[in-house]
Amino acid sequence: MKNRLEKPIYVTRPSMPDYEEYIEQIRPLWDSHVLTNMAEYHGRLERELSRYLQVDRLSLVTNGHMALELALQALGLSGEVITTPFTFISTTHAIVRNNLTPVFCDIDGRDFTMDVTKLEALIGKKTCAIVPVHVYGRVCQVEKIEEIARKHGLKVIYDAAHAFGVTYKGKPAVSYGDMSTLSFHATKVFNTVEGGAVVYHDDEVGSELYSLKNFGIRSEECTDGVGANAKMDELRAIMGLCNLRNVEADIVKRKALFETYMECLEGIAGLSLPFVQKDVKANYAYFPVLFDEGVLGIGRDAVYEELKKRNIYARKYFYPLANAAQCYRNVYSSSATPVAERVAVSVLTLPMYADLERREVVLICENIREIIGRGGKI
Ligand SMILES: *Cc1c(COP(=O)(O)O)cnc(C)c1O
Repeated sequence: MKNRLEKPIYVTRPSMPDYEEYIEQIRPLWDSHVLTNMAEYHGRLERELSRYLQVDRLSLVTNGHMALELALQALGLSGEVITTPFTFISTTHAIVRNNLTPVFCDIDGRDFTMDVTKLEALIGKKTCAIVPVHVYGRVCQVEKIEEIARKHGLKVIYDAAHAFGVTYKGKPAVSYGDMSTLSFHATKVFNTVEGGAVVYHDDEVGSELYSLKNFGIRSEECTDGVGANAKMDELRAIMGLCNLRNVEADIVKRKALFETYMECLEGIAGLSLPFVQKDVKANYAYFPVLFDEGVLGIGRDAVYEELKKRNIYARKYFYPLANAAQCYRNVYSSSATPVAERVAVSVLTLPMYADLERREVVLICENIREIIGRGGKI
């Protein structure tokens, strides 16, 4: 174990603005004492994000999970929602917490987004919506999904938590469907510490979202919705304004690291590198690899444990699948989504963040090669 690292490397590390810059930006709050309730910086961040993401309408919320919950609630849905199990548990929870029933569609074996060839067979009388996930920032089969949704009169809400800044054929990924939800959690490509947003296209939906994120309060004496408290406060909006200035440079750094990983890990039978989609401008949010135990003679879990011993903390995103979570285990079965099940047991996402150094990526790859017995130095 000659390569054990001195300092631990975690799967991610949040981007932060310059300390002085942030302090300078929050100073006005000490004069105004206006800290929250859709105030000045909340509005500014909504406008700057709309510009950056090239969308017309966007509503900020307190986190990506509430973005999903409120997006579903704003559409007033009831019945079944088709989604995928290869995602963060939040996607499924948001459906269930809206008293909707998730129906799990399997994923495509190459990009791990919803397998649209299996979608129509799951549509029934009770189906009201589709919630596909742009997992790892890979764009779903948006054209096919739109065609199927239109044919059956279904709403489409994309979980775009991973797809910040991603474009498909030059169009923002978040512009597809009826709505898209984003997460600005500390671990994501763009962060506001905690935060999120809903991208929508219809002003009535926007007014619904505005009210629902503030307890369903429509006006001073009128509460006409059973809303939540999902408002983004001014301190986090300012964090977002500062981080937004660096996000483009961060994505450039991520791209270089992604390419370094690709070079250092290429040509190993049994180790699958990330699928690169055509027509997509990526954000390089994650670096997922698959370990085929049958070929390598060593499985994902063993590699994960060995890396940990060497101070490298990769993560098993997304294992277990949502339909195998303890809270859903008696209701759903992951055997109904065999491709997702196979990916979930072999995937490992390797450390990826803007400030990761090229040298560190090379070290991580050397360790992986050593662990799986496929050559030491690169
Ligand atoms: C992070 C994430 C969420 C939830 O976002 P939070 O901001 O953490 O609430 C939802 N879906 C996916 C796919 C995510 O990765």
